[in-house]
Amino acid sequence: MKKKLALILAAAMLLAACGGAPQGDTSQTESAAASDQESTASAPTFAPITVTASATEATKEDLADLQPDPPYDFDVDAMVPTDFGDFFTDQYPVTTSSYKLLQGDEYENEVFVIESENDGPTVYVIAGIHGDEEAAWQAGKLLKKISIKCGKLYVIAPANRWGASAVPKTRYLDGKDPNRAFPGDPSGTNAQRFAYALYNDVKDKAPDFVFDLHEAVIVKEGRDNLGSSIIYSDMDLFGDLIIDLVLASQEGEICTKPFNFYSPGPAGSINRTITEGLRIPVMTVETFRGYQMRDRISDQLDVVQYVLRSYGLVD
Ligand SMILES: [Zn+2]
Repeated sequence: MKKKLALILAAAMLLAACGGAPQGDTSQTESAAASDQESTASAPTFAPITVTASATEATKEDLADLQPDPPYDFDVDAMVPTDFGDFFTDQYPVTTSSYKLLQGDEYENEVFVIESENDGPTVYVIAGIHGDEEAAWQAGKLLKKISIKCGKLYVIAPANRWGASAVPKTRYLDGKDPNRAFPGDPSGTNAQRFAYALYNDVKDKAPDFVFDLHEAVIVKEGRDNLGSSIIYSDMDLFGDLIIDLVLASQEGEICTKPFNFYSPGPAGSINRTITEGLRIPVMTVETFRGYQMRDRISDQLDVVQYVLRSYGLVD
C-alpha cells in the first residue's frame, strides 16, 4: 500500500513539475514525494485506483446492503450551505443574475450567475444532469446562495429539472440519458437538444473549470461508478488538484467519506466531451446514494469548496 501511495505522490510531483497546476498549496505533496523518488510512474489512468489504506477499507464495506436514497426530514430549499457544515462562511459583495437555455422551449432551463466585482477565474457548475441524483442538484441549489471574492460562478441546478421533478425521479430526459447525449444536436432528440444548448453555453462562457455533480448507485451496466468518487478525463488539465483532493478526503481533512478517482468519463458525457472538445478541466463528483442525504450534500459542498479555494474564489 505504501508503494501505491508513493506511486500516486510521484505522479503528483511529475504533474507539478510539468506546470499548469491551478493555484494551491502543493508543498505537502511535493515534500512527501521527494522521499520516494524511485518511482517513475506517469499520471494514473483507468481505474479504480485506490490511493491509501483507508479507501481500500471503505470499498470493502458492503455497500450493496445499503438501500438507495434513505428518507430525510429537512427542507433543503429553506437551508443554506452553513446548515451542512463549515461551508462558504465568508460573505463578499456580488451581483446575481440569470438567463435561460432553450428559452421558450418545453425544455428550457435557467443558469444562475454570481459575479464578483473583482476579476478572477470563471467556474461553471452543472448539478444533476441525472435528475434522480438528488444530493447533486440539492448541493447545486445551495451553491446559488454563496458569494465569491473574485471571478464568476455559473450554476445550473437541477440541470435535468424534468427528471428531478418526475415521480419517481429519473436520470433520463424524455426517455434518453442526457449524459450520453453530448455535445448534442440542435435537431436531435430532446436530450440531444438540451445537451447542445448546455455544451454551447459552456463553450460561450469559456470557464476555467467545470463541475459535473452526480450521485452513484450500486454498480450496474452502463451506470455510474460505485461509491464516493471523482471522475476526470485528462489529469494533465488539473495539475495536482485531484490527487491533493482525494488524499485530503482519505486523510479525513475534507468530506465525511474517503473519495476514490476514476478515468475517463464515458463517451457522450459532459466530462468526456467538454474535456476533449473544449480542453477545460471537468471534475465529475459522485456521492453514494446509500448514504444519508445530509452527508451526501455535505460532501458535494466540501469538494466544490476545496476547488473554489484552490482557484481563489473563496477563502
Ligand atoms: Zn449521474
